[in-house]
Amino acid sequence: MKKTNATLADGREIVYFDLDDSAVRELVDPRDLPAVSTASQFRLDPLLDEWVAMASHRQSRTFLPPDEECPLCPSSDGRHTEIPASDYDVVTFENRFPSLSTAAEPPQVDAPNPLVPMRPGFGRCEVVCFSSDHNARFADLSAAQARLVVDAWADRTTELGELDGVEQVFCFESRGKEIGVTLSHPHGQIYAYPYLTPRSSRMVDVAARYRKRTGGDLHTDVLAAEREARVRVVAESTHWTAFVPAAARWPVEVHVYPRRRVRKIPDLDDAERDDFVVLYLDLLQRLDRLYDSPLPYISAWHQGPVVDTEELGYLHLQLFSIRRAADKLKFLAGTESGMNAFITDVLPEDVARRLRDI
Ligand SMILES: [Zn+2]
Repeated sequence: MKKTNATLADGREIVYFDLDDSAVRELVDPRDLPAVSTASQFRLDPLLDEWVAMASHRQSRTFLPPDEECPLCPSSDGRHTEIPASDYDVVTFENRFPSLSTAAEPPQVDAPNPLVPMRPGFGRCEVVCFSSDHNARFADLSAAQARLVVDAWADRTTELGELDGVEQVFCFESRGKEIGVTLSHPHGQIYAYPYLTPRSSRMVDVAARYRKRTGGDLHTDVLAAEREARVRVVAESTHWTAFVPAAARWPVEVHVYPRRRVRKIPDLDDAERDDFVVLYLDLLQRLDRLYDSPLPYISAWHQGPVVDTEELGYLHLQLFSIRRAADKLKFLAGTESGMNAFITDVLPEDVARRLRDI
């Protein structure tokens, strides 16, 4: 793998990841771009003690452009995209419409509420293009290409985790306009947050309580129990297990765990990365055959906090969909949206069996 760093016309960082060690990438972006907005801010919800990001400048971002105007395709024939190269393998760059930015400025607010602390929308939002092929799906990638994506995730997790003030790095893919994806080119995103997100914070607290009560590691024990029970296991490989969680919230939900407890993607060794790719590509292909149409999904990497002194994190992937039938989507209704109390109308054991049988 060869890595090449360059800078876009407005100063954003772009990084090329190439399979070919002799690849030479374009270092100059000929566009004339306005400066990136740094107007986002965080406000603390005093009732839940959770930070909320305000990024009103994102309203003007590119929304479902026609294929020939895709900003994530390589540049060609005088048309300049976000990637100033005629081809690429995997590329990551800072989002032009970032929710969080390392250059975010202190918020200016009239009559702030003293119970609502505010701070700049500091952080980083990057885009990861999985392939230069506009019509590819992640599931179509070759094992070598998918492995390059894993290496890019690992690289960005390490680099962004080293930025002063970043406490968590989140790599994810959202696919399908049904869940709000605004560009159809195969891509994912990476967020670097200046705090531990609510879900991760809760998971760390719960794991700490479990350790105190039992002396054990919660994630290790959950994985062992699922492997023992078998009924919710969808697929297994030498180093990984994919299972439907016993208390799944979504109509389709699969968790993928490495057998060896590691905290972050960069901690995975070569054999674990290669093995993950084989299992993951198989899993994605199964998901697309579930309803004989591309399944809208979110694929979310749960990594431990940047500073995890108590070592409570356990790297795992949460892959889930809002599609509950071939022609029906699950929307977050009153009980989910209002109370964060989930109700699902499918049994995890049935979902696991259907995915296994595909
Ligand atoms: Zn494209």
